[in-house]
Amino acid sequence: MLVDGFNRVHNYLRISLTDNCNLRCFYCMPEEDYEFTPHSRLMQPSEIELLAKIFVENGVNKIRLTGGEPLVRKDAADIILRLSKLPVSLTMTTNATRLHDFADVLEEAKIKSLNISLDTLDADKFQIITRRDSFQKVIDNIHLMISKNIHVKVNVVIMKGLNDHEINDFIEWTKDLAVHVRFIEFMPFEGNRWTSNQVFTMDDMLQQIGKKYNPIRLKDDINDTAKKFAIEGHQGTFAIISTMSAPFCSTCNRMRLTADGKMKNCLFSQKETDLLSALRNGEDVLPLIQESIASKAKELGGQFTKDFEKIQAEDLQNRSMISIGG
Ligand code: SAM
Ligand code: SF4
Repeated sequence: MLVDGFNRVHNYLRISLTDNCNLRCFYCMPEEDYEFTPHSRLMQPSEIELLAKIFVENGVNKIRLTGGEPLVRKDAADIILRLSKLPVSLTMTTNATRLHDFADVLEEAKIKSLNISLDTLDADKFQIITRRDSFQKVIDNIHLMISKNIHVKVNVVIMKGLNDHEINDFIEWTKDLAVHVRFIEFMPFEGNRWTSNQVFTMDDMLQQIGKKYNPIRLKDDINDTAKKFAIEGHQGTFAIISTMSAPFCSTCNRMRLTADGKMKNCLFSQKETDLLSALRNGEDVLPLIQESIASKAKELGGQFTKDFEKIQAEDLQNRSMISIGG
């Protein structure tokens, strides 16, 4: 088992397949010309499989594929099918633009649940946020996945003044559609020009929701990062992910592998452990994984405290979200 210094058992691995993406969400991809990692420096399918097996042998029972956009990789299907043979619950976070090409692969891999990002229900605003014209494709693919009995969780990053007034529209959307919408507080990463006054907190969200609805608090799972709610009579549900205003580090069970094979023990950790180079050099990578977990900070990568209003984004040392793997 992979246990850190605070007795947290780590059984959930998020693997980034690429830092490339076919959208350009401004809060995720740095505005300056961003250079995608060349293919040779990315973990290859057999390397991803080998590393994943080591994690699974040491207690991992859930793997999420992410990126960048995992489905822009030409060998995404091969990777998904390889990992589907492991005794894990396999899932993925995707922008949904290519899901229609992967319906059969998802079925073969027995993927039961997907996280799909969609920050607005307005096609023009979608274009502003993502700098691409894929709104209808995303909506169509959400419906396609639901029709295939895949549980769809929709990730919505809420930013003050941009889409905070759409929270109740999203909740209205869940009236006749069985989706689980997750409102996420805006987080700081390299190059995303984050400022604390753009954070629309969980309290702000609940206040706005309370003007129209009477949400019922649902029971959370042990390692859940989201606080879940239901509205009477709605087919779907919603949740709030309060990373900035009310972090959930005490029950964290997550580890990350970047597309270039570096292990991060926290989304906000500065330190990275190069598993891919070790693997390519024929070294034993398990001690490196164990060391990384043992050195995990108590909260927020040891980089900031719960008082997010005091954070100066330029003081944080981290990659951009697109190169970590969200
Ligand atoms: N391309 C895929 C997608 O968009 O779902 C997977 C990668 S994306 C980096 C994973 C998740 O991170 C998305 O739901 C995205 O909205 C979220 N994300 C990216 N930057 C963020 C930020 N600064 N604050 C909060 N969430 C962020
Ligand atoms: Fe691409 Fe996802 Fe980042 Fe948007 S959030 S730029 S879709 S990786």
